[in-house]
Amino acid sequence: MTNAPRLIDLHTHTTASDGSDAPAELVRLAAQAHLIAVAITDHDTTAGLDAACEAGKQYAIEVIRGCELGVRTPYGELHLLGLWLPEHDATLDTTLATLRTLRTQRNKAIIDKLQEMDINITYDDVIALSGGFSVGRPHIALALCQKGYVNSVQEAFKQYLGHNAAAYVPKQGLSPQEGVSILANSGATVCIAHPMLLHCPDGWLDDTIAELRPHGLHGIEAYHSEHSHKDERYCVELAAKHNLVLSGGSDYHGKAKPAISLGKGRGSLRVAWHVLDGLKRHRQQKGLPV
Ligand code: AMP
Ligand code: ZN
Ligand code: FE
Ligand code: FE
Repeated sequence: MTNAPRLIDLHTHTTASDGSDAPAELVRLAAQAHLIAVAITDHDTTAGLDAACEAGKQYAIEVIRGCELGVRTPYGELHLLGLWLPEHDATLDTTLATLRTLRTQRNKAIIDKLQEMDINITYDDVIALSGGFSVGRPHIALALCQKGYVNSVQEAFKQYLGHNAAAYVPKQGLSPQEGVSILANSGATVCIAHPMLLHCPDGWLDDTIAELRPHGLHGIEAYHSEHSHKDERYCVELAAKHNLVLSGGSDYHGKAKPAISLGKGRGSLRVAWHVLDGLKRHRQQKGLPV
């Protein structure tokens, strides 16, 4: 008998978006790390989910089908996690396809700006560094590294790609209400991802949660690699106030964010099985499948 804690990770990225591990490999690593459940939450795509679920059967670990969407706010993108996505939902599938088309347009606009600065990277260079499903700024950052224009992904964001940096292009997308509704109407559990990473004025998050609650917001990611204990406590208080369920995950991206480990974040993250249990009980109360 072992008394090892039963741990989970409900926020991870694969090569279907900007992570570096293929979906089945990420699931294998999660099982190797003795996690009992992992959610795959790629940006704007469900492309990795079937392979991840198959690997879950092979490695005897529960895999939760998820995705992450960015929605517009006056303070930048607020991220939403959809957990327990259905295999097919026409509205969700169409929305994700539209978001990926907007990504293509934006990526091309960023590359045009870089080329105007005599930086010779092409759209094909960027696609070659991606899994080809959901392409984003981290892939452009890799191309800038590969061609020697910068020494690190961090430097690429600082000089060129980050908010208001030299080649920054804003993202078009959904409003928070649209994002929450589309995910909730598909039958997913909808959580605000890493809320403390959005630098918004005091009270804005509280008001926004109250506004999104009737549109189908269910939860809040209290436990995250970049949240301090104080941040966690604040999220737990918000959850209690608004009757939200808690979620947690590392936001693992593999080599794309080497400081973040699966299940462990920067080393001290621990998301216990009872977080998963709470999410499942919430779904069962709503008559949703788990
Ligand atoms: P995009 O969706 O194309 O706007 O790209 C957003 C992704 O870029 C997110 O997954 C972030 O993890 C990553 N990102 C944003 N800022 C930085 C940064 N300063 N350094 C490294 N990665 C970043
Ligand atoms: Zn990412
Ligand atoms: Fe995010
Ligand atoms: Fe993420």
